[in-house]
Amino acid sequence: MAASLLGRDKRSTAASLKAECSRQDGRGVQLLGELLDSVLSPERAVAEAEVIEWCKSLMAGGESFDDFCKMVRGYDNATLCGLVWTANFVAYRCRTCGISPCMSLCAECFNAGEHTGHDFNMFRSQAGGACDCGDSSVMRESGFCKRHRFATSSNIPCVPNELMMMSEHILPRVILHLIQHLRDGYNEPDSDPATERDLQKTLQQMEPLISLLEDLTKMGGAMRSILTRVLTNHQIYKDLCSGDLCTGEKAYTKKNYEKYLTALKGSGLVSSEERSVTSVLDQMAGASNVTILGATAGTGQMDSSDEEEQDGSQGVGKRKRVKLSNSTKDSSIMDILKHKCFLEELLFWTVKYEFPQKMVTFLLNMLPDQSYKIAFTKTFVQHYAFIMKTLIKSHESDTMSNRIVHISVQLFSNEELARQVTEECQLLEIMVTVLLYMMESCLIKSELQDEENNFHVVVNCGEPLLKNNTYWPLVSDFINILSHQSVAKRFLEDQGLLQMWMNFVSFFQGMNLNKRELNEHVEFESQTYYAAFAAELEACAQPMWGLLTHCKIRETQEYTRTVVRYCLDALQDWFDAINFVDEPAPNQVTFHLPLHRYYAMFLSKAIRCQQLDLDSLLPDQEMLMKMMVHPLQIQASLSEIHSNMWVRNGLQIKGQAMTYVQSHFCNSMIDPDIFLLQICASRLDPDYFVSSVFERFKVVDLLTMASQHQNAALDTEHERSMLEGALTFLVILLSLRIHLGMTDDEILRAEMVAQLCMSDRTHSTLLDLIPENPNPKSGIIPGSYYFETMLSAVADFKAPVFEPGGSMQQGMYTPKADVWNQEFDPIMVILRTVYRRDVQSAMDRYMGFLKQTGKFTSTPWPPYRERAPLNPSYKGLMRILHCKTLHIVLFTLLYKISMDHQNMSEHVLCMVLYLIELGLDNLPEETAEEEEMFGEERCSDSWFHGTNIATNLHHIINYVRVRLPETAPEVTREPPASTSSDTSSFIQGSRRATALTRENSNTAQVFSLVAERRKKFQEIINRNSGSAIQTAAVRPKTSKWTAPNSTPQLTTTILEIRESMLSLLIKLHHKLSGKQNSYYPFWLEDSESTSTLDPMQQIHGDGIIAIERILLKTAARSRQNKCSIEEICRKVAPPVPPKKSNSADKKALDKEERRQKARERQQKLLAEFASRQKSFMETAMDLESPDSDVAMDVGSTEQPDSETVYDCVICGQSGPSTEERPTGLVVLLQASSVLGHRRRSTEPKKLPTSDEEQIYPEDTCGTAHDVRITDLQQYFKDAGFGLKWALMKIKFQSSCLQSVSIGWEGGVYVQTCGHTLHIDCHKSYMESLRNDQVLQSFSVDKGEFTCPLCRQFANSVLPCHPEKSEEKSIWSPYNSKSLLTLIKEVEEQQEQLGMFPVSICSITNLSKEMESVMKDIRSATQKKYIDYGKTPGSPDNDFLFMYSVARLNLELELVHRGGNLCLGGASATTKRSCLNQLLHVLAMHMRLFRIDSAYNPWTRLTRLTQVMDYGICDDEKPEVPLLYRDVSSLLLILVLTMPQELHKEHFTCIVKVLYNLLYTQAVSTLSFQFSEEERAAWKNSGKLKTMCNSDKSWEVLLSHIICELSKGRLYNASNTGQVSMLGTNVWSPQSIEYSIQQFCLPFLRTTSLLQHHLFGNDLPSCQRTEEFGMLASYLGLLLPCLQSNDEFCSSACLDWPIAALDLISQWCLEVTTSAESHSEQVTNLLVQDPQWSLPCLLQLPENYNTIFQYYHRKACVHCSKVPKDPALCLVCGTFVCLKGQCCKQQSYCECVLHSQNCGAGTGIFLLINASVIIIIRGHRFCLWGSVYLDTHGEEDRDLRRGKPLYLCSERYKVLEQQWVTHTFDHINKRWGPHYNGL
Ligand SMILES: [Zn+2]
Ligand SMILES: [Zn+2]
Ligand SMILES: [Zn+2]
Ligand SMILES: [Zn+2]
Ligand SMILES: [Zn+2]
Ligand SMILES: [Zn+2]
Ligand SMILES: [Zn+2]
Ligand SMILES: [Zn+2]
Repeated sequence: MAASLLGRDKRSTAASLKAECSRQDGRGVQLLGELLDSVLSPERAVAEAEVIEWCKSLMAGGESFDDFCKMVRGYDNATLCGLVWTANFVAYRCRTCGISPCMSLCAECFNAGEHTGHDFNMFRSQAGGACDCGDSSVMRESGFCKRHRFATSSNIPCVPNELMMMSEHILPRVILHLIQHLRDGYNEPDSDPATERDLQKTLQQMEPLISLLEDLTKMGGAMRSILTRVLTNHQIYKDLCSGDLCTGEKAYTKKNYEKYLTALKGSGLVSSEERSVTSVLDQMAGASNVTILGATAGTGQMDSSDEEEQDGSQGVGKRKRVKLSNSTKDSSIMDILKHKCFLEELLFWTVKYEFPQKMVTFLLNMLPDQSYKIAFTKTFVQHYAFIMKTLIKSHESDTMSNRIVHISVQLFSNEELARQVTEECQLLEIMVTVLLYMMESCLIKSELQDEENNFHVVVNCGEPLLKNNTYWPLVSDFINILSHQSVAKRFLEDQGLLQMWMNFVSFFQGMNLNKRELNEHVEFESQTYYAAFAAELEACAQPMWGLLTHCKIRETQEYTRTVVRYCLDALQDWFDAINFVDEPAPNQVTFHLPLHRYYAMFLSKAIRCQQLDLDSLLPDQEMLMKMMVHPLQIQASLSEIHSNMWVRNGLQIKGQAMTYVQSHFCNSMIDPDIFLLQICASRLDPDYFVSSVFERFKVVDLLTMASQHQNAALDTEHERSMLEGALTFLVILLSLRIHLGMTDDEILRAEMVAQLCMSDRTHSTLLDLIPENPNPKSGIIPGSYYFETMLSAVADFKAPVFEPGGSMQQGMYTPKADVWNQEFDPIMVILRTVYRRDVQSAMDRYMGFLKQTGKFTSTPWPPYRERAPLNPSYKGLMRILHCKTLHIVLFTLLYKISMDHQNMSEHVLCMVLYLIELGLDNLPEETAEEEEMFGEERCSDSWFHGTNIATNLHHIINYVRVRLPETAPEVTREPPASTSSDTSSFIQGSRRATALTRENSNTAQVFSLVAERRKKFQEIINRNSGSAIQTAAVRPKTSKWTAPNSTPQLTTTILEIRESMLSLLIKLHHKLSGKQNSYYPFWLEDSESTSTLDPMQQIHGDGIIAIERILLKTAARSRQNKCSIEEICRKVAPPVPPKKSNSADKKALDKEERRQKARERQQKLLAEFASRQKSFMETAMDLESPDSDVAMDVGSTEQPDSETVYDCVICGQSGPSTEERPTGLVVLLQASSVLGHRRRSTEPKKLPTSDEEQIYPEDTCGTAHDVRITDLQQYFKDAGFGLKWALMKIKFQSSCLQSVSIGWEGGVYVQTCGHTLHIDCHKSYMESLRNDQVLQSFSVDKGEFTCPLCRQFANSVLPCHPEKSEEKSIWSPYNSKSLLTLIKEVEEQQEQLGMFPVSICSITNLSKEMESVMKDIRSATQKKYIDYGKTPGSPDNDFLFMYSVARLNLELELVHRGGNLCLGGASATTKRSCLNQLLHVLAMHMRLFRIDSAYNPWTRLTRLTQVMDYGICDDEKPEVPLLYRDVSSLLLILVLTMPQELHKEHFTCIVKVLYNLLYTQAVSTLSFQFSEEERAAWKNSGKLKTMCNSDKSWEVLLSHIICELSKGRLYNASNTGQVSMLGTNVWSPQSIEYSIQQFCLPFLRTTSLLQHHLFGNDLPSCQRTEEFGMLASYLGLLLPCLQSNDEFCSSACLDWPIAALDLISQWCLEVTTSAESHSEQVTNLLVQDPQWSLPCLLQLPENYNTIFQYYHRKACVHCSKVPKDPALCLVCGTFVCLKGQCCKQQSYCECVLHSQNCGAGTGIFLLINASVIIIIRGHRFCLWGSVYLDTHGEEDRDLRRGKPLYLCSERYKVLEQQWVTHTFDHINKRWGPHYNGL
């Protein structure tokens, strides 16, 4: 029955079945079932397309499927957009409207919504996504588009049952069909490699089916709810999938089901065998330690997946993998999956097949259905562990990660849903377990600290899991759900979870350990470090910041306490595991201490926001001491790395140091570390802390009063920078307030100021450089409104400017003056510099500011400033400043600097002074005399009695016992030269080591920080724990401590010092100022002025000012200090220091000094100026440097009388260019189509941005000329045999090719830098370039080189014509010869043979070179641009090409002059023109041709000839009538073929004759623009005026021409009036005159330019309206007396050799006799329009989005695909596939191909997806930059930021200018070959 239905018509079957079904008897349903059995039978091979057709028809139940869709869509009740997209889709994100940061909108919804002024950006989706429009849990309703804002389900009617009935019956079977396919097609991938292909095949087969489902989801809510019901119903699944379906397919179904069960087996996290292994391990792990870990590595390899990993572990040598026990994990999470509905199994297969895109899209398309969304989310969570397990094993984990996140983001971004699955499905437990499971697969034994006795395990950063960031989707989901408060709360309340989490974090603690290489350079630089940094940031820090956002208020105190507790537990475990005692292992550093950082950041939050008591969260002193060690080790290592002590570890270690402080990492790494150290410093014994610091920095041995010392830990070369490092660290520690009391805005401001002080920044760089968070998610997001306000408060905007030379700058922000003045903070700068040079740069800029504002002129010191107030919880930090150890260090350093000891620096002094000053500013409150401890002080030395810096400053140290090498100068009797007289004497007899005893109790002991620290450590341990065992455990190691004392060469001696810090300071003042007694306490004279110093003035200054400031503060703090200072000064200074004269002296000295300096500066400036000028002159371009090229004006025509002398830029010799040794100009020959792109209209064409707009190329100059030449060739005599060498006396037949010019497209433009060289010198230069091994950006083989002097790109040398001065004889336009005589002379010369000295038989070097440059010119362009004639390669083509080159270069010069000559000779372009030389070369070449007199146009131009030949021979077409000919071309032909050098009178004669023709053409063109009636009227009115001077009356001529042309019925043939340029206006004499002038002007302009270059007369300048008259008289067409009259008539320039009317009649006759053959084209040919507007690029829209939206998804016309890299030609608007294989033609990609067709090798393309312009020039290309900038004046290459971009018209002008002037090669620097692949 059912089988018979199969053959029937589907639609009618469906209709009848539907009717049956709607009856209640169930027969229809049964029938339907049977039919489906056959259609969907898995065994019967019904073609899949057929199956789909059946399904569609049946669902539609008799309707057409499309109609059915429409009907169902009518019941769509969805209120959200939900559009699902895949990778690379362009979407939008609006931060203003988003609630979740993951929110995204499709372009349609975005554009239909209201987001003006919002903080939005466009982005290219990486993982795919879905539109959130309409979902108020993700975004604010105000941002919904119109479509989804008002959508409600209420007004949608209920779905009629009947409509969906069939679907309800059919869909379960369809899905079952799909699932059976999936089961059937599946094979375990590890069985053989071919299965992967099989999977793909299965998927391909199922594609139509999934597409059908996808289509169904698009039918809206009604269909989706049916699908949901089918997918989630347990009963349906049970009924259909239990394997007992009625038909005889049982066997199949069973096999099928078994496959499913097999696939299920691997779905748990632990397979059965794995489980047994781990349980064994558990037992062993309990028993003992090391051996088991080793053994684990062995047994662990029993894992099924470990085959390849085994090789991996061998590679890492002894770093064996470690497996952990599973005891902590919930077994239910690890178990095998069980499925209860279609959806579950469908997802299962989706995972198994590694997330096929189609399937993902289908599953996501269903999401708008709310109940589906919940069910799907639960299913997803259920499969979560399985998904991640599959991900780890996947071969294409990148794609899969993206697909997973594509789904999970949609599910977990919704707080309500996330909370629900957290509660109901253990989402958090699952995630943490899976994370642990994942990381356990790549653990290794830690080698930190105690390599042998280390039980700690860390992740191996070399594993693919970490290297490829495979864990990313999981971590990203975790961070996503933690952002929901309700979920985070659950996490923070669950102690089991927290414990597991800390376990997880500790896997990263101490990973990627670095060991300093001491001997040899590492063999290969491991690149694991980036994986490590990324892992800590993503897997540890991000979740931490997520959790911290929920610990912001007092009510959450408990959470913080819990986290801190577990954190400390984990830390304690860690210290135990690595077997840490009290010393870090030497030469080791790891940058990864996530546990420390968790602890630090939760503490910070607790104090800042939760009002918790710091002490209640702190561990005991011993734990604090331990916690201090590793962060401090990092700080010391940073300093070591910057001191190049780690060079043998390669560059990567620098990379680590830089990453650690880099903006994206700093607040998760260095900032917490510093903060933790600050806490330690505030709670630990200050002496212990300070000595630890100096010990870690290895500079303890340096801190001796002796002039020489031995450093056991450090080479001398590193001592200085390590000492600076230690002091810098202390300075940072004491003054950084990021976590100690600064508010969020203060931090942001400080960050911003620091970055801006280093360098001016663009907006985006700054955004990138500011760490996202002082407290991430604190509300201060970079790019927010807040950020912008802060930015405008601290910085000024510098708009983008251009530099001459074309490099483009971006908009920059620079610090305001006030910022320099008050906020520049060197400490922030040091903290945030990735590159050390940035610190220097900030200081240089600071100095620049001070100099500029006149505040200070000598080198200033870093202005360490007052700090923000310290949060009282941390005030213990200041105790550091008041400890004996620090004071001893400071005293020692002051002493050493004053004694000029080795390795001291001004920088050290600067920081020492700052620390003293900081101490003075933060005096302890109990200044009460604690100095009683005098006699029985704890230290046996006699350094200082107390700890208060104010007291210790004036304390005098008399003797110091030091240890020093035998070689030290102190050991000898002689006092060292540098010692000042009053301190130089030694105590006799005390220098010998043996004599050393404690006889003198007043002698300060050898200062040993190490000993000090040890002692303190013991004290603290004892005091704290009181546990004897602990101390005992440490004791044995103390034997090492004596090591420093045992160095045999050291001897102990006692130095007499007799100094206090104050006296040292005063001495240093003298030293810095270079004068004795420079310091004098001014209060001695002026007692009440202690407070009169200007504090502002005091901040900016050098060392002298700093010392004065400190002394002043000292005096102000205590009376005793004041007295001390006075006493010291009295001792060293004369009794009454003449302060006044002192300052006067200083002034005088200053003055002299300043004068001297000024002189030096002036000289330097002059030298600099000279060199800059030189380099400028060498690189300056034509257009930008009109005044700099005076010196280069060699090749020009300005010196007519004397022979021109050329300088050769290679050999340096000067001399004339001669036949034997010619000189040449360095030239660049390039093909150009710029002129061909000119249009008639002066309005630039707009770039089309919609399908309606189009650009037609018909109206360009290039096309117009192409049409014209084709027309001419069709009807007139074309060169078939015409032209041969003159010497062979073969005639030049007239042809079409003389009647036009070519080269509008692909002509050759010649330009020069103006430099000349001997041609033989050039040849050897090229030879040397060829042999040069250095890679050049140009190809020497193609003749390319750069000018040896100015480095400008060039490719040929144009020989200079030897001057013959007599030819440039002074010319008078009014000489005696009549026009007729001159005409005769010209004609005679034309008849002559070539008399030019260069002939084929007399080959000279010069003629050879001229030949060769012609070859270069020809090969500069493509063949198709040369061969216009019918016979390729015939001399006619050559002839045409050559005069066209002249034409092109003249016209281009005209364009460069702005299209007219009103500016006269003043234009700079002339100066470096090579036209004169070029004309000589062309003329030399063209003189080889001859035109037969019978065909010579000259004859027909000047006298009456018989109109012969026309139409006589059948086989021959007529000649081109003169009226059709292009006059400018005729001029060039005549001028260039004159057999010898042209005299000016002949030139003028030719121009006059041609003007007559031109005028006639103008009038006849005009006559075609008249209407019939007008023509008749003018014809008659002209006739009446025939009178005496009729030859010069335009009316007469007009009338005559109309009359003559009417004879050929030309006006009838053409539809006249249409061509009218002035529309319907009536023609007046004025408009006629104007029209004629406009017609003639282009000719006059090119002719004037030609005359200018041939004869060198300067062009006069004039008003625009006077141009015609001016040029006419310049050319000698007009007598000067007439030109002033502005009412003058163009006909006045006519000068007819014979009766005008007769000549005109003859010309008209030429046309009329031949007109019949081409009546269609007469008008086109006769009506010429020589006017073209200036070439310009397409006009671009203001907003880039307009272009992007239209073109980024536009299909290419050639391949009709949407290109991956679309590009747009900015010259013609052609849309091309950049780099696309699709449009490749013979190895040329479309872009390159277009550049050849459109620009003869030059192309300007806008890359749509990048907003960047590339230039193609021949075989090279370069990135030009962008003409679109954002509101901050910045480019956005590749649209990474996605902010709105606006056209920068200045930049676009520059681009256009470079195109028109052909200067791309010169201005743009970075060219590369494109290998035709663009
Ligand atoms: Zn919308
Ligand atoms: Zn949308
Ligand atoms: Zn918005
Ligand atoms: Zn030379
Ligand atoms: Zn040059
Ligand atoms: Zn183009
Ligand atoms: Zn294409
Ligand atoms: Zn293509």
